[in-house]
Amino acid sequence: MGPRGKRYTAPEIDIYFDPRTCIHAARCVAGLPDVFVPDARPWIRPEKATADALADIVKQCPSGALHYVRKDRGAAEVPEATVSVTMVPGGPLYVRGDLDIVARDGSLVRHDYRVALCRCGHSQNKPFCDNSHIAAKFEG
Ligand code: SF4
Repeated sequence: MGPRGKRYTAPEIDIYFDPRTCIHAARCVAGLPDVFVPDARPWIRPEKATADALADIVKQCPSGALHYVRKDRGAAEVPEATVSVTMVPGGPLYVRGDLDIVARDGSLVRHDYRVALCRCGHSQNKPFCDNSHIAAKFEG
Protein backbone atom coordinates (compact mmCIF):
# COMPACT_ATOMS: atom_id res chain seq x y z
CA MET A 1 0.00 0.00 0.00
CA GLY A 2 1.78 3.11 -1.18
CA PRO A 3 0.81 6.51 0.17
CA ARG A 4 -1.53 8.52 -2.03
CA GLY A 5 -2.15 12.20 -2.44
CA LYS A 6 -0.26 15.31 -1.47
CA ARG A 7 2.66 15.06 0.96
CA TYR A 8 3.04 17.29 4.00
CA THR A 9 6.44 16.83 5.50
CA ALA A 10 8.13 17.20 8.89
CA PRO A 11 11.53 15.87 10.00
CA GLU A 12 10.16 12.70 11.64
CA ILE A 13 7.05 11.96 9.61
CA ASP A 14 5.35 12.65 6.29
CA ILE A 15 1.57 12.98 6.12
CA TYR A 16 -0.25 12.14 2.87
CA PHE A 17 -3.70 13.52 2.10
CA ASP A 18 -5.95 12.29 -0.74
CA PRO A 19 -8.80 14.79 -1.15
CA ARG A 20 -10.77 12.43 -3.39
CA THR A 21 -11.55 10.18 -0.44
CA CYS A 22 -11.90 12.77 2.34
CA ILE A 23 -15.50 12.91 3.54
CA HIS A 24 -14.91 15.68 6.06
CA ALA A 25 -15.61 13.57 9.08
CA ALA A 26 -13.18 16.00 10.76
CA ARG A 27 -11.66 13.53 13.20
CA CYS A 28 -8.32 15.07 12.27
CA VAL A 29 -9.44 18.65 12.94
CA ALA A 30 -11.04 17.71 16.25
CA GLY A 31 -8.03 15.67 17.34
CA LEU A 32 -5.18 18.01 16.40
CA PRO A 33 -6.63 21.46 15.65
CA ASP A 34 -3.19 23.10 15.49
CA VAL A 35 -2.12 20.67 12.75
CA PHE A 36 -5.26 20.33 10.65
CA VAL A 37 -6.55 23.83 9.87
CA PRO A 38 -9.08 23.66 7.01
CA ASP A 39 -8.99 27.40 6.19
CA ALA A 40 -5.18 27.70 6.18
CA ARG A 41 -2.69 26.97 3.40
CA PRO A 42 -1.06 24.57 3.77
CA TRP A 43 -3.94 23.10 5.69
CA ILE A 44 -1.83 20.35 7.29
CA ARG A 45 1.11 21.47 9.46
CA PRO A 46 2.82 18.32 10.73
CA GLU A 47 5.54 20.30 12.48
CA LYS A 48 2.93 21.36 15.06
CA ALA A 49 2.70 17.94 16.76
CA THR A 50 4.83 14.93 17.60
CA ALA A 51 5.14 12.09 15.12
CA ASP A 52 3.38 9.75 17.56
CA ALA A 53 0.43 12.12 17.97
CA LEU A 54 0.17 12.55 14.21
CA ALA A 55 0.26 8.81 13.58
CA ASP A 56 -2.44 8.25 16.19
CA ILE A 57 -4.81 10.76 14.63
CA VAL A 58 -4.13 9.64 11.05
CA LYS A 59 -5.18 6.10 12.00
CA GLN A 60 -8.54 7.49 13.15
CA CYS A 61 -9.34 8.90 9.70
CA PRO A 62 -12.26 6.65 8.68
CA SER A 63 -11.99 7.14 4.92
CA GLY A 64 -8.29 6.46 4.40
CA ALA A 65 -7.80 10.01 3.11
CA LEU A 66 -4.87 10.35 5.52
CA HIS A 67 -1.79 8.16 5.73
CA TYR A 68 1.66 8.58 7.19
CA VAL A 69 5.20 7.44 6.57
CA ARG A 70 7.50 7.52 9.60
CA LYS A 71 11.01 8.75 8.96
CA ASP A 72 12.15 8.05 12.52
CA ARG A 73 11.96 4.64 14.16
CA GLY A 74 8.25 4.90 14.82
CA ALA A 75 5.94 2.09 13.82
CA ALA A 76 4.15 1.91 10.50
CA GLU A 77 0.38 1.52 10.59
CA VAL A 78 -0.78 -2.06 11.18
CA PRO A 79 -4.22 -3.10 9.91
CA GLU A 80 -6.85 -4.45 12.30
CA ALA A 81 -6.49 -8.22 12.59
CA THR A 82 -10.11 -8.83 11.64
CA VAL A 83 -12.23 -6.82 9.23
CA SER A 84 -14.78 -4.58 10.93
CA VAL A 85 -17.73 -2.85 9.27
CA THR A 86 -19.52 0.07 10.92
CA MET A 87 -22.70 1.50 9.44
CA VAL A 88 -23.02 5.26 9.75
CA PRO A 89 -26.72 6.17 10.09
CA GLY A 90 -27.71 7.96 6.88
CA GLY A 91 -24.14 7.64 5.62
CA PRO A 92 -21.41 5.26 4.47
CA LEU A 93 -20.00 2.00 5.70
CA TYR A 94 -16.73 2.44 7.54
CA VAL A 95 -14.59 -0.63 6.88
CA ARG A 96 -11.29 -1.43 8.58
CA GLY A 97 -8.84 -4.27 8.09
CA ASP A 98 -6.28 -5.43 5.54
CA LEU A 99 -8.54 -4.57 2.63
CA ASP A 100 -8.41 -5.20 -1.10
CA ILE A 101 -11.21 -3.36 -2.90
CA VAL A 102 -11.64 -5.29 -6.17
CA ALA A 103 -13.65 -4.36 -9.28
CA ARG A 104 -16.01 -6.79 -11.03
CA ASP A 105 -13.29 -7.54 -13.58
CA GLY A 106 -10.97 -8.57 -10.77
CA SER A 107 -8.72 -5.52 -10.97
CA LEU A 108 -7.54 -4.00 -7.72
CA VAL A 109 -9.19 -0.65 -7.08
CA ARG A 110 -7.48 0.08 -3.79
CA HIS A 111 -5.55 -1.63 -1.05
CA ASP A 112 -6.00 0.11 2.25
CA TYR A 113 -6.57 -0.36 5.96
CA ARG A 114 -9.47 2.10 6.19
CA VAL A 115 -12.20 2.94 3.67
CA ALA A 116 -15.63 4.60 3.65
CA LEU A 117 -17.94 2.87 1.16
CA CYS A 118 -20.97 4.44 -0.52
CA ARG A 119 -24.27 3.12 0.80
CA CYS A 120 -26.74 5.56 -0.75
CA GLY A 121 -25.82 4.83 -4.40
CA HIS A 122 -25.27 8.51 -5.30
CA SER A 123 -21.49 8.78 -4.93
CA GLN A 124 -19.58 10.02 -7.96
CA ASN A 125 -16.54 8.17 -6.63
CA LYS A 126 -17.98 4.67 -6.15
CA PRO A 127 -17.36 2.43 -4.42
CA PHE A 128 -16.16 5.14 -2.05
CA CYS A 129 -18.31 7.64 -0.21
CA ASP A 130 -18.10 11.25 -1.43
CA ASN A 131 -20.73 12.66 0.96
CA SER A 132 -23.45 12.59 -1.73
CA HIS A 133 -25.74 11.01 0.87
CA ILE A 134 -26.13 14.48 2.40
CA ALA A 135 -27.56 16.13 -0.75
CA ALA A 136 -29.58 12.99 -1.47
CA LYS A 137 -31.08 13.13 2.04
CA PHE A 138 -30.32 9.43 2.39
CA GLU A 139 -32.03 7.97 5.44
CA GLY A 140 -30.85 4.38 5.29
S1 SF4 B 1 -10.31 12.53 9.35
FE1 SF4 B 1 -9.94 11.88 7.21
S2 SF4 B 1 -11.98 11.96 6.23
FE2 SF4 B 1 -12.11 13.14 8.15
S3 SF4 B 1 -11.69 15.29 7.54
FE3 SF4 B 1 -9.74 14.39 8.21
S4 SF4 B 1 -8.83 13.64 6.30
FE4 SF4 B 1 -11.01 13.95 5.85
